[in-house]
Amino acid sequence: MSRIHNTVDSGSVKMLRFIPSGRRLWIVVGKDGEYWTDPELGFCSCKDYYFSTLSKGHPCYHLNSVHQALLEDKFRVFEFSDGDYTALLQAVAEDSANQLLR
Ligand SMILES: [Zn+2]
Repeated sequence: MSRIHNTVDSGSVKMLRFIPSGRRLWIVVGKDGEYWTDPELGFCSCKDYYFSTLSKGHPCYHLNSVHQALLEDKFRVFEFSDGDYTALLQAVAEDSANQLLR
């Protein structure tokens, strides 16, 4: 559990909120990159998700971190306009979103 708490405590869970739609993206920054995580769909873009979550049903630590962050109400919120949604998703896919989220 400590990895999850460290992730939450260090502010590595980020919620991107898009205005005016209210659409959200969750990003979890880990040691080896940043991942798009969707707690409602139970989806994460990391490798563990493909190797463990889909086959064994264990949520990866990014998903666990978002759930924990929601429980503790401890995440960083960044607001963008809806027009930036696609660009942000692409930045996450390219592992460069962190540059936009300082
Ligand atoms: Zn993950």
